[in-house]
Amino acid sequence: MLETPLALNNPELRRLMRLCKLEHTFVHGDGVWLTDEDGRRYLDAYAQYGAVALGHAAPEVAAAVRAALDARVPAMVQPYLAAEAEALGEALAAVAPGHPRRCVFASSGAEAVEAALKLVRARTGRSLVLAATGAYHGKTLGALALTGREHAEGFGPLVPGVDHVPFGDADALEARLARAPGPIAALFLEPIQGEGGVIVPPPGYLARARELCSRHGVALVLDEIQTGLGRTGRLFACEHEGVTPDVLLIGKGLGGGLFPLAACLVADDWWDERFALGHSSTFANNNVAAAVGGAVLRALAGEGNTPGLVARAAARGERLGAGLRRLAARYPRVVADARGRGLLWALQLRPADEAQGLLLGYLQHQGLYAYAAAAVLAEQSSVLALPTLGSDNVLRIAPPLVVSDEEIDLIVDGIESMCGKLARNPCETIVRNMGWLRDPDQHDAGAEARTNRPPPTPAPMPAPRMGARGEHRRWAFLVHYTRPEDVWVTEPGLARLSDAELASYCAHVGELPAGLCLRTAVLRSPTGAEADGLIIALPLLAEEMMRRGRRAMAPAIARAVDLAIGLGADVVGLGGFTAPLSGRGAAVTGRGAPITTGNALTAAAAFEAARAEASARGLAITDARVAVLGARGSVGALMARLVARERPRQLVLVGSPHGDPAPLAALARDLAALGVNVAATADATQVAGCELVLSATGAARPVLDALPLAAGTIVCDVARPHDAGPVVRGRADLTVIDGGLIALPDRLLTFGPGNLQGLPPGIALACLSETILHALEGTRADFGVGDDVPVEHADRALAICRRHGFQVAPPGAVRLGGERAQGGGAR
Ligand code: PLP
Repeated sequence: MLETPLALNNPELRRLMRLCKLEHTFVHGDGVWLTDEDGRRYLDAYAQYGAVALGHAAPEVAAAVRAALDARVPAMVQPYLAAEAEALGEALAAVAPGHPRRCVFASSGAEAVEAALKLVRARTGRSLVLAATGAYHGKTLGALALTGREHAEGFGPLVPGVDHVPFGDADALEARLARAPGPIAALFLEPIQGEGGVIVPPPGYLARARELCSRHGVALVLDEIQTGLGRTGRLFACEHEGVTPDVLLIGKGLGGGLFPLAACLVADDWWDERFALGHSSTFANNNVAAAVGGAVLRALAGEGNTPGLVARAAARGERLGAGLRRLAARYPRVVADARGRGLLWALQLRPADEAQGLLLGYLQHQGLYAYAAAAVLAEQSSVLALPTLGSDNVLRIAPPLVVSDEEIDLIVDGIESMCGKLARNPCETIVRNMGWLRDPDQHDAGAEARTNRPPPTPAPMPAPRMGARGEHRRWAFLVHYTRPEDVWVTEPGLARLSDAELASYCAHVGELPAGLCLRTAVLRSPTGAEADGLIIALPLLAEEMMRRGRRAMAPAIARAVDLAIGLGADVVGLGGFTAPLSGRGAAVTGRGAPITTGNALTAAAAFEAARAEASARGLAITDARVAVLGARGSVGALMARLVARERPRQLVLVGSPHGDPAPLAALARDLAALGVNVAATADATQVAGCELVLSATGAARPVLDALPLAAGTIVCDVARPHDAGPVVRGRADLTVIDGGLIALPDRLLTFGPGNLQGLPPGIALACLSETILHALEGTRADFGVGDDVPVEHADRALAICRRHGFQVAPPGAVRLGGERAQGGGAR
């Protein structure tokens, strides 16, 4: 048995795999079966991206290696003649279309692509090459230039001289070649785009590409690194169309799942002397690897009366394809398409529906949904399949070519079980199978999270892909779970979790980095301005954010802001505790877009709602003793200033007993200087004689429940999590309203399931509303940032609010969220 490796090679990838419950250490492989260190067997339906074509520990491969080693065949003898490599070149020439007589061996597919790139440039003296959109040719810089752009981000500048034409569109290719045939050396194509999502071009495309290349004297380079060597049911995929390339690239299975071995096969006409003498690679022409390559070719072709693996792949492929197509028809809500050829298939999943939950939106936008589906498949059915690298939501099914009919049925049955579960309740299925609800008896992840261990380093995650936006502006708003009950509101699929499972879920999602979870519709203002929005989640509980503290949270919030700006946000709003934990935004300004805490509109809207409620009950502020709880905070201080402007009978500023009393005393002095009767205290029981209590603490617990509120008191609760808990809200002799809420011009608009806080449609938190408003308004400076937001900001926020058709929500418009949603789903 191997010991579990420490994963020092690539800890970032390990963290991502662990998060998706795709972290296995396989210690034994035999045919299509892999066994992990716990002894669990998995059916390998991905074959290490096709490299394990003959299965794990293939006997033919082992025999070839043993024979070569026993015979003391020298593996590396370059630049002397490598006899086995010569023999493999000859064997390949005998079976490849057009019998290309020149062969350049390489140690990876990408290296073979690089060789082809150099060759066609040297041969033609032209530098420009064409490749197809969505292509995948590897990740070295030259190959990356040919590969689709999304893989190249951050690695530029790439090798210049590469143009892309739309894949599968022969007319576009014809037009491109006719426009400027002169400088073009070659067209690189995959007969079926593998990593791009197993995209099969229309019939006749390849043949027309061949004809066009010949007409224009351009080399046709077919990259069959993924499709070649039997994978599609013919030895080479181009044979399905009877096409002969000028240069043919193969790799993956050629090394028998043991050696890194690829080849660039070149027709005589396209060989070049300068290339021949100028190109080399230390590990090329390895005699033992080549002996394995020979064994692979023999296994593919078959010997005597034994049909080879190519014929088997064709037959098994029919069975696999029929099974997957059946599933696509049976589970149309989960599967959008099943396509492929031979033993190379894609199950195109429908995008996870963000309307079914923010977590699903997160997985979808962050490109993790297909990985989550793969985790479900592995966990439920012990079948390993993985997404393709360049497309969202595609599970590639490409088992070793030695797969049997019974094993094909196991794969299809396993996928069926996955589809059934995803159709019933995707969110619960995923979190359960990813181990995020781990048996609370064995492991109380929530309790562990509450200890003082340092916060886990979040798994790094690729940035989500976004379509271009139109003419309108874009806002982004950072959210998090304020309390465990929020999970029921925003993830209706998790309504059936037990409390322990909920705690475990919260602890697990807390390890996710900030990510995009919801794209909102375009909102139109009566002024004609338009804005669309992004909800970016830091999937942590408020309590956990507090535990981690500002030192750990500020950089995480900054990364979320950077993500928002990277996705084109013109203004970023800080929801919930992301404001206090970034110094009311001060720690995350200057990053390329204005920041707003939304505190100006929150305070203004809360005060306006409280004043309206008081007035409805016959209480004028001038006659009232008003308390502001959390008056040291930015919203609290601004509310205090707004109250002070109205000259109340007395203003009681209540600060936390644990904090520095100086800022509160300074605020009291300020207000007293204006002639206001003001008292500052850390004793919250002083609310006892107040008719109006405005509460905006950051306590994250129902602090008002323990206070001696007199009968008749009006309480305006602005805090999230709420300061007013069930005790206060249950008292018939008090009036409790939720402040800081705005009615949107679109009365049906919601922000995901549960409208984030269980708010009714058309109602939003003032901080979110203010973010939208600054986008509509085109505000270019930070707004409401820092501890002391000037009272003019509150006035201005209200003015902008009205200009764009937003209104302070009338008290009573809102029923509190947090109840379990109806329904739920299957386990
Ligand atoms: N070309 C194609 C069509 C491929 O599918 C791949 C790998 O998946 C490559 C090139 C790159 O091969 P490698 O990863 O061995 O460099």
